[in-house]
Amino acid sequence: MTQAIDFGSTQLGTILVTAAALFALLVGRYLLVVGPLYLACWKLLRQRLQPRRIQRVLPPRRRLVGEFWWSMSTFVVFALVGASLLYCSQMGWTRMYGSIDEHGWGYWLLSAVLMIVGHDTYFYWTHRFMHLKPVFRYFHRVHHLSFNPSPWAAFSFHPLEAVVEASIVYVIAFSIPFHPSALFVFAMYMTVMNALGHLGYELYPRGFTQHRLAKWFNTSVHHNMHHHLVHCNYSLYFNWWDRWMGTNHATYHQTFDAVTGRSQARATRDLRAEQAAVAPEVPVPVECAGSAPQTAM
Ligand SMILES: [Zn+2]
Ligand SMILES: [Zn+2]
Repeated sequence: MTQAIDFGSTQLGTILVTAAALFALLVGRYLLVVGPLYLACWKLLRQRLQPRRIQRVLPPRRRLVGEFWWSMSTFVVFALVGASLLYCSQMGWTRMYGSIDEHGWGYWLLSAVLMIVGHDTYFYWTHRFMHLKPVFRYFHRVHHLSFNPSPWAAFSFHPLEAVVEASIVYVIAFSIPFHPSALFVFAMYMTVMNALGHLGYELYPRGFTQHRLAKWFNTSVHHNMHHHLVHCNYSLYFNWWDRWMGTNHATYHQTFDAVTGRSQARATRDLRAEQAAVAPEVPVPVECAGSAPQTAM
């Protein structure tokens, strides 16, 4: 007589059940953040936002579907990494703490800022790494299949890149004391900014990249140019690493000004001319140079 195995009570079973729940949450977060942005900018307000469209030609529908399914595979990886982190935390191996009173609200806020700034640095350098010739095709090429990304591309990664992207939570969890709610705030900030970076439309006001404070924050044009031109604009939330390393594209500010200064009449004329057009099949580089010659401060 065989004895039934209570899979749910094993450690691996617990991790897998947790991962399944996390997967559902990650998909929910993706749909809740990306869905309305896509619906608003790409459908409902498309005509009105026409002047703010960054690239003239929209990607074909099958590209957006591809972005969605690669994102689903990313969430499988994220869910497994998240569940394993939860397990480590329950074992007391991470620096997670349970009560906000332990470190106070001041530290709670500081920890959230540290996560964001730390992630920005982590992203810039892992991104540069993934653009190295021997690495690019295995890790990062999938993300660059989106020549003109839609917000659905925010998590469109090869599983190997997804592991790199997810590993930031391990870096955080083992380096600073953190409350789960601060990690949640960080995760939401990351999702919203990531979706805005892939929006395909620029929502920030004219002059944003020249303003003495605002210029340190990245724009949608910034990351869209990275997808379009590849060897430039590697940073995530803030522009400082690209400035310090001279990797902003030379025409970044010019492009931003052109997009934010376009008139409705001019945009409508362009739209009529392009109504039936779809994006050309742009060859995606299978190799990438590690450095970029562009500089702009
Ligand atoms: Zn890239
Ligand atoms: Zn991207």
